[in-house]
Amino acid sequence: MSLLIVRVALHGGGKPADRTNGRRRRAKYDGQPRKVVGITAASDQATTASRPSTVSAMSRRYEDLTGPEIEHAISPSSVLLLPIGAIEQHGPHLPMSVDAVIAHETASAVVAECGDELDVWQLPTMAISKSNEHAWSPGTLYFSPETMLAVLRDIGRSVATTKAERLVLLNGHGGNTTHLGTALRELRLAFGLKTFLMHPSLPPAYGGVSTAEELGMGIHGGLNETSVFMHLRPDQVDLTSAARKVPEGLAENEHVKFGGSVSFGWLSNDFDAEGYIGDPTGANPELGKQLFDHAVETLAEAMAEVKTFDFGR
Ligand SMILES: [Zn+2]
Repeated sequence: MSLLIVRVALHGGGKPADRTNGRRRRAKYDGQPRKVVGITAASDQATTASRPSTVSAMSRRYEDLTGPEIEHAISPSSVLLLPIGAIEQHGPHLPMSVDAVIAHETASAVVAECGDELDVWQLPTMAISKSNEHAWSPGTLYFSPETMLAVLRDIGRSVATTKAERLVLLNGHGGNTTHLGTALRELRLAFGLKTFLMHPSLPPAYGGVSTAEELGMGIHGGLNETSVFMHLRPDQVDLTSAARKVPEGLAENEHVKFGGSVSFGWLSNDFDAEGYIGDPTGANPELGKQLFDHAVETLAEAMAEVKTFDFGR
């Protein structure tokens, strides 16, 4: 992975610096990739002497186009990428923004890696989603399952007014997974879109891996997620308030467990009053960088298959 990706990740994602009196100067789209200077300006928290203050990178942000430019910039071979996060409690050691930040930064890095080659356009991050498993926690911002599906349907309808035929959902919140799977088919049926779902890492509750130390139950705010967030936003993690919160008794079950053959309904405070599930106490930014880089590399590879996917007929 290129240095650019790391730089974009550390700097919080692509907020242009070339603003004048609050308005960004822009040139008319000429059918060629547009250069945006200053993709690094969003965050000052991880500046180093070795990092330049600005870099040039093509803007592949959908919202940077004008309405008329959509007609020419978005073609049948374009892939639209929608990052989906959440604003929900993640225990006392992490902010509510974790899933939204991880989805946004992952999408930004994937687009930096393969956007030009594969004609990928990054849609605005959908920060709020279906987080009703955290409804018990005051301040969690969440859609009901019905609203979540309705919002995705409306986004799909909007996307279908462009020439793009492929929509990828990049999901940073495990609690969305079932509904996003439903949305894939709904949007395929309603609008004829080819639809795809990818994750920075597959949620453990859906067959993804988590560490042996967490007995495979680093579900929410655990080692891996906390480490990735430490890599992206090191100043926003407080490990002094973190503890091991692994529901040990579940590990004895053969079938009824996270990722087991029998699923079960749960709320995040069913396991512990603090509502996080896993063991973040050993989290560190080095592990986070490894996980993040691996995710970006894997998703960029997957995007190449998305680009040409045709049902094998
Ligand atoms: Zn999360």
